[in-house]
Amino acid sequence: MRLSPLNKEDSIKITTVQNYIEDRFYSNKIQDFMKAETHPDHYEQIKDRCPIVEERDTCGVVTAGRTIGNTIANPVIQFSSWILVDEQEAKKTARHELAHVVQVLCDLEGGFHGRGFNKALKITAPRTFRADRRWRTNIKIEKARKLLHPKARIAC
Ligand SMILES: [Zn+2]
Repeated sequence: MRLSPLNKEDSIKITTVQNYIEDRFYSNKIQDFMKAETHPDHYEQIKDRCPIVEERDTCGVVTAGRTIGNTIANPVIQFSSWILVDEQEAKKTARHELAHVVQVLCDLEGGFHGRGFNKALKITAPRTFRADRRWRTNIKIEKARKLLHPKARIAC
């Protein structure tokens, strides 16, 4: 089968992802959580630290998105172009990475995907936190991913 180039017109736009993240970050739900989890002085420093989103060709063979920086200064979330071909999986990745941002901003306990992360994920993805622990592949994503990672195995 010959692979056609990535059709960007079908992809969710990175500006749409940015708006999606901003809506959530500034929601009462997330702001109240951060307020409750931190000292009032610290909350004042983090309440406006909404992450900036960036699109990359790829963040890695199986990395749909990643949060850059482990301090409260200017959090950045990068998205692989191949996850943006599927709106639902892209939004799932956004909720997952936003939980990492909240985890860092509030300095929550536990490891990378540990207790604090899970607590934050229940706030950024109240109804879908189980599914949002990881992205899932489909034909559309595999097609786009294969263009950038021709030797990659099927992601699960
Ligand atoms: Zn993660």
